[in-house]
Amino acid sequence: MEDKIKIFLDLVRKRNGNEPEFMQAVEEVAETVIPYIVNKDIYRGKNILLRMVEPERVISFRVSWVDDSGEIQVNRGYRVQMNSAIGPYKGGLRFHPTVDMSILKFLAFEQVFKNSLTTLPMGGGKGGSDFDPKGKSDNEIMRFCHGFMSELFRHIGPNTDIPAGDIGVGGREIGFLFGKYKQLRNEFTGVLTGKGVTWGGSLIRPEATGYGTVYFAQNMLNTKKDDLKNKTVVISGSGNVAQFAAEKCIQLGSKVVTMSDSSGYIYDSEGIDTEKLEYIMNLKNVERKRISEYCTKYPTSIFVKGETPWSIKCDIALPCATQNELDVSDAKTLLDNGCICISEGANMPSTKDAVHEFQKAKILFAPGKASNAGGVATSGLEMTQNSLRYNWSREEVDEKLKVIMMDIHNSCIEYGSDKDGYVDYVKGANIAGFVKVADAMLAQGVV
Ligand code: NDP
Repeated sequence: MEDKIKIFLDLVRKRNGNEPEFMQAVEEVAETVIPYIVNKDIYRGKNILLRMVEPERVISFRVSWVDDSGEIQVNRGYRVQMNSAIGPYKGGLRFHPTVDMSILKFLAFEQVFKNSLTTLPMGGGKGGSDFDPKGKSDNEIMRFCHGFMSELFRHIGPNTDIPAGDIGVGGREIGFLFGKYKQLRNEFTGVLTGKGVTWGGSLIRPEATGYGTVYFAQNMLNTKKDDLKNKTVVISGSGNVAQFAAEKCIQLGSKVVTMSDSSGYIYDSEGIDTEKLEYIMNLKNVERKRISEYCTKYPTSIFVKGETPWSIKCDIALPCATQNELDVSDAKTLLDNGCICISEGANMPSTKDAVHEFQKAKILFAPGKASNAGGVATSGLEMTQNSLRYNWSREEVDEKLKVIMMDIHNSCIEYGSDKDGYVDYVKGANIAGFVKVADAMLAQGVV
């Protein structure tokens, strides 16, 4: 088996060796899916996984725009259309200076499995730009988004490819992108998700990724007859996913003690309550300032510069910032401090060795492609509402989100349960996600 995995990975590495994040995502899938495939006659000789690691289409384009001082700026835009076997491409746009082909291919590849897990008919894609929204005025953001959409609009559509938000792309950016698309196409369609509720958006979409991550943690804890009440929770990030993960934890009776951004983390031993979280939301979403300001407002808390929060003792950890933000030494520290449950809100926030450490310790560990799928699932619900020209209530969408997260959890149990009762959620998510896409690819022939 080791040989088969090695031969496959050597082949993929030959073509993509300069894309470390993409290779990391492929390795994790290959380790769990290849042992499954070799025992299944229907997949033998069909090179399904080899086809799945090759994007169906990659688009790269220039985005020229004018900044507030009149200077012309140039950025690079991308869309990776990874797999459309079970539906139109679906996945977010990321605006961050680290965006490159490796990051977007890893995210698009993960997205294929994640979207399959949601049970909704969505293929996988991802896109974005190396544009850095930090420090830019609203007008600069608008000009960039309009420039970006001036090219992207040719490649997307409600039945082709439906982008959404990700790091650096929130409600403000989706608005500017949608406005340009509508102008160029002269049609009002559900081509982007994460729209404002008054113009086609779904209630609960902003909350969905964070809430879903916590619902998934709740489902995992329930298998141990446990729950979130009175648990100490450490969260990284302070963006969209982190904020709503914190909100749901507080609602369910947990004590959230940390949040972070790329400059460091804040630790509040008294707990971040609803009022303090509201302050963080305003700080990040309206004032667009750094998390360290929290300590000026709440002087009993501390700010730790340049560090991640994993050394803080907790029962539950929710990494909600970015990829590879939790390494093997962080994993060991979390385990030594008695952490029993990790639910990833971000995409691939734990390094490969960190994941192995959690698996070795047999604690509850959910990979992002399962635990953060609530965001894209609710995007799927937004698409349905757009097609129906109808809006569901907050309660209806939240209920559907809960059911979807429970279904994903059940799929992980179905494919990831070991003989000793331990559930390997990584294996479960990878195989469950794979089966639906692979079967569709088989049915559609070699295309
Ligand atoms: P936001 O842009 O709203 O927030 C990102 C947060 O992560 C910010 O606090 C940011 O800090 C921090 N961060 C970003 N890059 C780094 C870094 N290199 N080191 C440390 N901190 C960093 O993004 P989201 O909350 O939407 O996304 C967070 C994660 O969740 C990503 O991995 C994303 O792919 C994933 N995700 C998001 C979904 C969604 O619906 N939005 C859906 C599924 C997954 P700073 O402000 O300083 O940059």
